[in-house]
Amino acid sequence: MSQPYSFIDHDYDVVVVGAGGAGLRATFGMAEKGLRTACITKVFPTRSHTVAAQGGISAALGNMGEDDWRWHMYDTIKGSDWLGDQDAIEYMCREAIPAIIELEHYGVPFSRTEEGKIYQRPFGGMTTKFGEGVAQRTCAAADRTGHAILHTLYQQSLKHHAEFFVEYFAIDLMMDAGGACIGVVALNMDDGSLHRFRGHQTVLATGGYGRTYFSCTSAHTCTGDGGGMALRAGLPLQDMEFVQFHPTGVYGAGCLITEGVRGEGGYLTNGNGERFMERYAPHAKDLASRDVVSRSMTIEIREGRGCGPLKDHIHLHLEHLDPKVIHERLPGIAETARVFAGVDVTRQPIPVLPTVHYNMGGIPTNYRAEVVRPTLVNPDATVQGLMAIGEAACVSVHGANRLGSNSLLDLVVFGRSAAHRAAELVKPNTSHKDMPKDAGDFAVARLDKFRHAKGAVSTADLRLEMQKAMQNEVAVFRTSESLAEGQKKMRAVWAKRAELGIKDRSLIWNSDLIETLELDNLLAQAMATVDSAAARHESRGAHAREDFPNRDDTNWMKHSTVWVNERGETTLSSRPVHLYTMTNECQVVPPKPRVY
Ligand SMILES: Cc1cc2nc3c(=O)[nH]c(=O)nc-3n(C[C@H](O)[C@H](O)[C@H](O)COP(=O)(O)OP(=O)(O)OC[C@H]3O[C@@H](n4cnc5c(N)ncnc54)[C@H](O)[C@@H]3O)c2cc1C
Repeated sequence: MSQPYSFIDHDYDVVVVGAGGAGLRATFGMAEKGLRTACITKVFPTRSHTVAAQGGISAALGNMGEDDWRWHMYDTIKGSDWLGDQDAIEYMCREAIPAIIELEHYGVPFSRTEEGKIYQRPFGGMTTKFGEGVAQRTCAAADRTGHAILHTLYQQSLKHHAEFFVEYFAIDLMMDAGGACIGVVALNMDDGSLHRFRGHQTVLATGGYGRTYFSCTSAHTCTGDGGGMALRAGLPLQDMEFVQFHPTGVYGAGCLITEGVRGEGGYLTNGNGERFMERYAPHAKDLASRDVVSRSMTIEIREGRGCGPLKDHIHLHLEHLDPKVIHERLPGIAETARVFAGVDVTRQPIPVLPTVHYNMGGIPTNYRAEVVRPTLVNPDATVQGLMAIGEAACVSVHGANRLGSNSLLDLVVFGRSAAHRAAELVKPNTSHKDMPKDAGDFAVARLDKFRHAKGAVSTADLRLEMQKAMQNEVAVFRTSESLAEGQKKMRAVWAKRAELGIKDRSLIWNSDLIETLELDNLLAQAMATVDSAAARHESRGAHAREDFPNRDDTNWMKHSTVWVNERGETTLSSRPVHLYTMTNECQVVPPKPRVY
């Protein structure tokens, strides 16, 4: 290895990689507990993807009618199509209530009811009395909830003296000879310097890998860097076949129109003007779970009942709503529709299409945010020194399909849980062992390899090829044939990785190099996704196989685990779903058919 670099070393009690909702909740919580906390982020904290979250964050506060966290738990388990771990779901739904009240006290400017309570709106799959009624459970700050939460958490982190390393790109984890994580290597993109950050706990909060697909609602920064780092450290990812398509991405642009629109009374029609969701989900209709609505829309389009001259999209209507409601509760949506679809929502429907939106899979963890590395004797064994939270992680509370407004909740509850756990495990200012001689070499060797890549293939072209392959072959509906084609195309894409070429050799503001490192992370997760999807011979949640149309609890009620090696080859295995609760305050929800 050529190593013309020297490292700048930093020792902290804890190191958080990522400053989205999950990373900032952990950063602030850890700093608040007196731990010396570093937060490393490739974009300015308040530009993290969480800022785009619109509709809201769920919690059974009961501000708008009767509610109970056990109903929320039931809905989440049903939404997960019984792939979610019930102990973690219990923890999330119970802790949602104090976690949201805390957020309010920290300063999140939630919208209000007439009595001054936090305003809550209905969201898909959220019910009362174990499926009987419609719950108003999603706490909202107009349609800019993520923005409000992110700004509040950043201010709280600064108030508690967390130290930020902004526009630092984390390249790889540092693991010791015993398999424990001791920190992370990062590149300061502004001056090209290389840094080794050591922490007694390192927390991956790097967000999802939505950019493996061509049409997605996620930011360009959602490149699954944490998942890539975990795979290169020899750790598995979990449930990667479960990719959520949101029903209402703006046709042609992919930008999200929140489910909160349907929560406020918006509805979908096909090319015949029919409210088709009444046929697919007679009870919940337009507020059925996302996978159900996305599949129903896809069937309408496939069967020739789409809208527009090409019959290739669906209409979302808000024209019947009082413009005051739109102005007060959905101002961002009206703007998005105007800018990206040229539509005035008070007069015309918005053209929409199912679009990739969320990754249920990720780095496996327990409810305390500790990363799990399953062994033959212990499927729940943890990795010393490493945590993961947010969309990068798979706790697993979303199982095979996430309910809307449960992601912001996941960020806050498990970011907070990571802080509690770190405070139990780490004594402030504990010194670090001697730095292993080779610490950071692996990261630098990889950086060097790409920096000096002289092939003929451009990063942008290869990324596009990957995105098209994933979009076309690993889509809303899947078959053995489409997935075999996807595997073939992705193997061809992987082979071209060796032919990548980078023009600029600099380490300073070299976007070509950074995008290549990001592409490398995306590629590994695309391989994990397509191979896991091909292996799962059933339909569950977001994974809809036309050749295996039913859920198969006997053979497939288990988490998929997947390792990806340097040659892009995958090793697949599984670990059991937690079909037990943490306390006797609630009961296990036994599997049953999932109808809405
Ligand atoms: C348009 C849209 C609307 C949504 N609306 C809602 C909603 O209303 N309710 C809801 O519950 N969910 C919603 N979601 C989902 C939710 O917003 C996301 O799942 C969530 O924000 C992810 O948060 P995160 O903290 O895990 O990651 P992110 O917010 O994506 O943050 C990732 C962080 O990691 C950093 N990072 C990544 N890689 C590196 C690296 N290599 N080095 C250094 N730093 C790195 C980034 O800089 C960033 O700070 C929405 C999603 C979309 C796409």
